[in-house]
Amino acid sequence: MPDMQDSNCPGVPIEAGLRGELNRIQERNTELERSNRDLEQFALMASHDLQEPLRGITLYAQLLAEKYAGNDEDTTAFLNYIVNGALRMRDLLASLLSYSELSRTERPPATAVDMNTVLQMVLSDLKIAISDSSAVISYDTLPVVSACTGDFLRVFQNLLMNAIKYRSERPLRVHISSQSAGRDARISVADNGAGIEPSQHREIFTAFTRLHGPKIPGCGLGLTICERLVKRNGGRIWVESTPGKGSTFWFTVPVDSQRS
Ligand code: ADP
Repeated sequence: MPDMQDSNCPGVPIEAGLRGELNRIQERNTELERSNRDLEQFALMASHDLQEPLRGITLYAQLLAEKYAGNDEDTTAFLNYIVNGALRMRDLLASLLSYSELSRTERPPATAVDMNTVLQMVLSDLKIAISDSSAVISYDTLPVVSACTGDFLRVFQNLLMNAIKYRSERPLRVHISSQSAGRDARISVADNGAGIEPSQHREIFTAFTRLHGPKIPGCGLGLTICERLVKRNGGRIWVESTPGKGSTFWFTVPVDSQRS
């Protein structure tokens, strides 16, 4: 029987053609992994090394702003632009640094974590932002999960801060609850804020995606970091949302086996 021929490479037997294609894909994957590592290394170095000169710029601009405050309107306004720009850049670098550190560091071992305690810690940290926005936060009893406490402190912190930042004109209400989903708990943070177009539901988890203008502080890394944190604890995260009505962010996390 004649050898089957590869239609992409006439004259080459199909098995040899497939083997060649497999090798090419493997080479491309290795190359992609290397360039991803290089990019992460670059992001880490840039975010780390830029912090020191930026601290100097912020400090001296603040000193000048204090010295010339009220002297002349233009000088005060220009110096405020510099200080505000530098402070935004500081926040961006801090987020970039924690994002790139996440991909380099091992996850701390999972322990039994009472999510009610984690939530109370975050609510206490965000006391000022909650009272400034007059947000009403309610919650059900949450489960004890098997996870890293620090990771979920950050997840709740990001999700609650976002609910506050992207609220609508309506008085803000946020509800946190949990459902059982086999070996996992499915935890939700639901707000009645601005909401998100369905076409953006996946997009917002991609680094640097921002749907709102520069007046609201942020750099588009919060949800990307949340996704990494949830994934490294064995879960997944997604959003359900109707524009103008609000958003519900869901994430899953393994329940502590002693309690399930
Ligand atoms: P950041 O808040 O720093 O911009 P995130 O990654 O946390 O970055 O969020 C990405 C974008 O998703 C935000 O800029 C905002 O446009 C949108 N978003 C996030 N959370 C909400 C929410 N609860 N309601 C409406 N839009 C949201």
